[in-house]
Amino acid sequence: MGGFFGVASEKDCVFDLFFGTDYHSHLGTRRAGMAVYDREDGFAKAIHKIENAPFRTKFDKEATSMHGSYGIGSISDFEPQPIMVHSHHGTFAVTTVGKINNVDELEKEILEHNSHFFVMSNGNINPTELVAALINQKENFIEGIRYALSVIDGSLSLLVLTERGIYAGRDAQGRTPIVIGKKDGAYCAAFESCAFANLGYSMVRELKPGEIVVFDEKSFNSLYCPENPRMKICTFLWIYYGYPSSSYEGISVEKMRYRCGEALAHRDHIKPDIVVGVPDSGTAHAIGYSNAAGIPFSRPLIKYTPTWPRSFMPTMQQNRDLIAKMKLIAVPDLIKGMSMVVIDDSIVRGTQLRETAEFLFQSGATEVHVRPACPPLLFGCKYLNFSRSKSEMELIARRVIAELEGTEDVSKEVLKEYSNPDSERYNKMVDRICQKLNFTTLRYHRLDDMVAAVGIDPDKLCTYCWNGEE
Ligand code: SF4
Repeated sequence: MGGFFGVASEKDCVFDLFFGTDYHSHLGTRRAGMAVYDREDGFAKAIHKIENAPFRTKFDKEATSMHGSYGIGSISDFEPQPIMVHSHHGTFAVTTVGKINNVDELEKEILEHNSHFFVMSNGNINPTELVAALINQKENFIEGIRYALSVIDGSLSLLVLTERGIYAGRDAQGRTPIVIGKKDGAYCAAFESCAFANLGYSMVRELKPGEIVVFDEKSFNSLYCPENPRMKICTFLWIYYGYPSSSYEGISVEKMRYRCGEALAHRDHIKPDIVVGVPDSGTAHAIGYSNAAGIPFSRPLIKYTPTWPRSFMPTMQQNRDLIAKMKLIAVPDLIKGMSMVVIDDSIVRGTQLRETAEFLFQSGATEVHVRPACPPLLFGCKYLNFSRSKSEMELIARRVIAELEGTEDVSKEVLKEYSNPDSERYNKMVDRICQKLNFTTLRYHRLDDMVAAVGIDPDKLCTYCWNGEE
């Protein structure tokens, strides 16, 4: 994933840029960057790895050495950015969030016009550089950004820093959000609205799908807004990776998670002693469940927050599981002799939740009933660069389906049946997952309940990773 923040201010913008970008740290774990424009000194840029130290530590020096009135910052799970280029548009910097599936096709098209690309250390071209090259194909920024948003297969939201202000363009299907904020003498744009309050910004509005705006320290203007765009905002924003204090399409993440937990409780007939949320993203769902079921919420698993402020995820599988386990510390007195319902945001590979359940049993739990806050994940996300799983066959639901069907090559129709909670195939799959992970019982959220918990028109929500519908 990734996130960004941009600010235009009549004063120096770096303080706001530094903290505004830092408030997106939960969205990425690999690279971060800031680019600024100062009327006297021009452009400056810094990029650091944030794999082993948080953004604030890595950019401590730049927070005092950089200066300028306009700036954009990025948190990224993939490519180093912002990218700074010089073209017929002048010098500009760009940062992006999304995933480009047709890189080869677009690259070929651009190379026909005698351009070139730098390659990253893995040999791939930097997708954000590709976006800069697409913007350069057209006469001006508006047309260039429109072009980039329209030719990309996948998703793309972006910020472009120029000498005259900052352009923001939201993905054509609104897969990821952009929200505009304002305070005296400054405007900003963010992925997460939670970045506003402590910096003194109030929300102006969210961009529409495909909308392009420009802002400087004095004003904010919409430059292009498609009529009746097809909205498909990512539902996983509310379920898992969005920040609890943010809202998207006017829907609070934290409140949605309470409703999600409530709906899980309403379908349940078990009466365990306690309700447990796997920190952090399972917690709010568990509070909702606990309130609706009238069963006490308890914290037998507590995240060691002083040095685990964010989701540090090394890429090696062995370390990944080990580290995920090490950041949670148990409270044995709250586990011994207890039956519990354990709520996590989702089950991806299942390894971590299996180990958590195993640990709870070893610590004296009598029953561990697992209730993920979303349906089984059956399809890999095509729209966002998630680092959580690399291939669909890493998803436990797909591995179990392959076992049950005797092949990994399963048709769309059969997968569709597995996504239907009223089908026999679905029940067999859930039983097998429960067996494999050694839970007392397992019951996933239903897609219709989860979508109702968001509360916007279901047609406007992307649910591809659960039902394969585009
Ligand atoms: S496929 Fe899933 S994770 Fe990807 S955008 Fe859609 S809802 Fe979000």
